[in-house]
Amino acid sequence: MATWDRNKNILLELVKLPGNEQCADCGAPEPDWASYKLGIFVCLNCSGTHRNLPAVSRIKSIRLDFWDDDLVEFMKATGNAAAKKLYESSVPVFYYRPQHQDCAVLKEQWIRAKYERREFTAEGLHFQQAYCSGYYEGILWKKGKNKKQFLKRRFLLSQKDFTLKYFTKEDSSRSPKAVIAIKDLNAAFQPEKIGHMHGLQITYMQENHTRNLFVYHDNGQEIVSWFNAIRAVRYAYLQKALPKAADSELLPLITKSSLKEGYMEKTGPKQCELFKKRWFILSSKDRKLLYFKSPLDAVELGAVFIGPESLGYSVRESQPKSTRGNKWKYGVTMVTPDRQFVFMCEQERDQKEWIEAFRQVISQPMLPQDYATEASLKRR
Ligand SMILES: [Zn+2]
Repeated sequence: MATWDRNKNILLELVKLPGNEQCADCGAPEPDWASYKLGIFVCLNCSGTHRNLPAVSRIKSIRLDFWDDDLVEFMKATGNAAAKKLYESSVPVFYYRPQHQDCAVLKEQWIRAKYERREFTAEGLHFQQAYCSGYYEGILWKKGKNKKQFLKRRFLLSQKDFTLKYFTKEDSSRSPKAVIAIKDLNAAFQPEKIGHMHGLQITYMQENHTRNLFVYHDNGQEIVSWFNAIRAVRYAYLQKALPKAADSELLPLITKSSLKEGYMEKTGPKQCELFKKRWFILSSKDRKLLYFKSPLDAVELGAVFIGPESLGYSVRESQPKSTRGNKWKYGVTMVTPDRQFVFMCEQERDQKEWIEAFRQVISQPMLPQDYATEASLKRR
């Protein structure tokens, strides 16, 4: 019993040290679990993935399990910072390192890449060829026009001409159904919306309108490889487009998740039109609020540019007294230099979250590319 208490106390001190105080894999604070085979402290969530990899990792609770002296010594001698130096020694700069709020497939594949494939050490570097070569070709399930129907499509990513193409037929000898410029492309995992654990949303511009593609691959490693291959080509494109920019400026521009998505009711410019329920996506990357008839639509119905306060943009709770025809009662008024937009939310919590998200975009300083976005939306 004395050993039990003593070792538990040593571990509870160890886990407070810099590096150990965050999960070794996803950065979640105050990890409660440890891999005594790798010498790292991890969160409950990541410990679940480690349990599935018994050949490379073994998990114990630092509070509830018994620890032998030699295992405690090993934890003391290793720890998160030392393990990071070893297992993350050659992570490509564009490679997406997941955070605890990210989806399961990103976190699981990051853990498998690090410890199972040793992808970022000299032994496993060959695994990186899949997404580092500037060329990727393969079959993905792509959502078709009909609801919920996914079809096999061949996709081809090429750094040579900075495009992503897809083909209706499985062979790529015929002309592509679409040629998407890497310039305006974004990719983000959206498992809940797409209804598949590996669901990836690809967004791009076509004739000044935002279009969405929804794809997945049954294999988790494959879809994360696609995601990182797209990131690699986006990074190469940005380096070419902005040759003077530092990596710290380019990395946030590679891909970005939407700031907030969800249903709101929307009225027309006179604010006396009937309210219609629409699916909204707010992106801080290009300062756009897009709306769609439903979450998995390919083409937006409209887009609103969200500028900064200094250019006359603001947001507030509640709606003008004259509004009617709304089913939902929690109003959000978005003021732009041209007009006011009135949105209605179903829940008070949604209203708070939307206002918070709008404020975040309004408080961002305008970047050179934002002026181009603003002008292109005004041209419509
Ligand atoms: Zn974690």
